[in-house]
Amino acid sequence: MAQITLDKVSKIYKGNVKAVDSVNLGIENKEFMVLVGPSGCGKSTTLRMIAGLEEVSEGTIHIGDRLINSVPAKSRDLAMVFQNYALYPHMSVYENMAFGLKLRKYPKHEIQRRINEATEILGIKKLIQRKPKELSGGERQRVALGRAIVRKPMAFLFDEPLSNLDAKMRVQMRTEIHKLRLRLQTTFIYVTHDQTEALTLGDRICVMRDGKIQQCADPMTIYDKPANKFVASFIGSPPINLMDGKIIKKDRKYYFQEGKFQVKLVEEMYNVIAPYEGKEVTFGIRAEDIYDKLFASEAPPENTIKAACEVVEPLGSEVYLYLNSGKNSFIARVGAHNRPEVNKDMDLVFDMSKVHFFDRDTEKTII
Ligand code: ADP
Repeated sequence: MAQITLDKVSKIYKGNVKAVDSVNLGIENKEFMVLVGPSGCGKSTTLRMIAGLEEVSEGTIHIGDRLINSVPAKSRDLAMVFQNYALYPHMSVYENMAFGLKLRKYPKHEIQRRINEATEILGIKKLIQRKPKELSGGERQRVALGRAIVRKPMAFLFDEPLSNLDAKMRVQMRTEIHKLRLRLQTTFIYVTHDQTEALTLGDRICVMRDGKIQQCADPMTIYDKPANKFVASFIGSPPINLMDGKIIKKDRKYYFQEGKFQVKLVEEMYNVIAPYEGKEVTFGIRAEDIYDKLFASEAPPENTIKAACEVVEPLGSEVYLYLNSGKNSFIARVGAHNRPEVNKDMDLVFDMSKVHFFDRDTEKTII
C-alpha cells in the first residue's frame, strides 16, 4: 500500500527560508498526483522530503501506517526520476539500469529479466550497450525511467522529468508516461511547473504558491472552479482574462463595470454577488468564453462588448484574438473560421454563465 500522507509538513532552510509551509496532503494508493506551481514555490522540496533527500523540519510523513520522517531514502521503496536524468556517464544503459538492483543483491537472472521487461516497455532494447553520451535527451530520459521501473518501487517520484526535452519530445514523453502509468498501476507523484503537463497527467493536481497549497483537486475542478485568483491565472492557456472593476445594481440587475466596460451577471449569481454591491472585485473570463458576435447573433446585447482587434493569431484549429476595449486588453479563443479585420472595432459576446469573480482583498473566488 503506497498511500502517502503529509501532515503539517514544513521545510525551513538555513537563513529561515520557509520553502514549504504546513502542507497537508494525502496521496492515494495508485493515484497520479501532480505538484504544480511557479519556480520556487516549494514543489521540489516537498517531493525531496517524501523521497528522503531532505529532512522534514516540522510535521510528519507516513507511507501507509509507517512514519518515515527518519527512514533513510534507500529504505523507503520509492524511485525518483530527475530532470537531468542523473545517469552514470561511464556506465552503459544496461549497467545504469542494473546498478541499483546489484546494490540490493538481486540475482543476475532476475536483474536480466527486469531489464528485459523495462527496455521492452520503453522501446530502448537496441540501446542497451550504449553510454549516456551516445543517446538523445528523450532516450536518456527513457533510460532514467527504466532504472526506476526495474526497482518495482511502491511509488515513483518525478521531478520535472521532461523539462530538458524539446517541445515535440516533451509531448511524446508525456503520452508515454501516461501509458506507463496505466501499465504499472502504481502511485506517482509528479512535480512540474507546466500547467499543461499537470492537466493532462494528474488524477489530482495540487497547486502550490510560496510553500503553501492553494488548491488540490481533479483537473476539471481546478480549471472550472479555481479556489482563488492565483489558481485561475496559473492554470489555463492562454491565461484567464482578469479585470478589476465594480459590482453595481440597476433596476434590480447586477452588473460588473469598469469605465465604459459593462456586462450583466446571470441571475443565478445575484445572491452570492449581492454583498459586493458597490465594491471593487476582480472579474475573470477564459478566452474560450468570448465569442465573435457574428457567430453568436442570438446573444443578449447586455453581454456584448465593443473592442478593437489588435492581433489575429491563427493556430490552425483555432484563432486567438488580442482585443482592446479602451483601458482593458483581453484574449479570445475562437473557431478557425473567425478572421476579423485588424485594428477595427468588433462586437464580442461574453458568456456570462462561465465568468468568475474574485475578492479584491483576499483574492478568493466569490463565483
Ligand atoms: P520549486 O521546486 O517549486 O521550484 P524549490 O522547492 O526548489 O521550489 O524551492 C523552494 C524555495 O526554497 C525557493 O525559495 C528556494 O530558493 C529555496 N531553497 C531550495 N533549496 C534550498 C537550499 N538547499 N537552501 C536554501 N534555500 C533553498
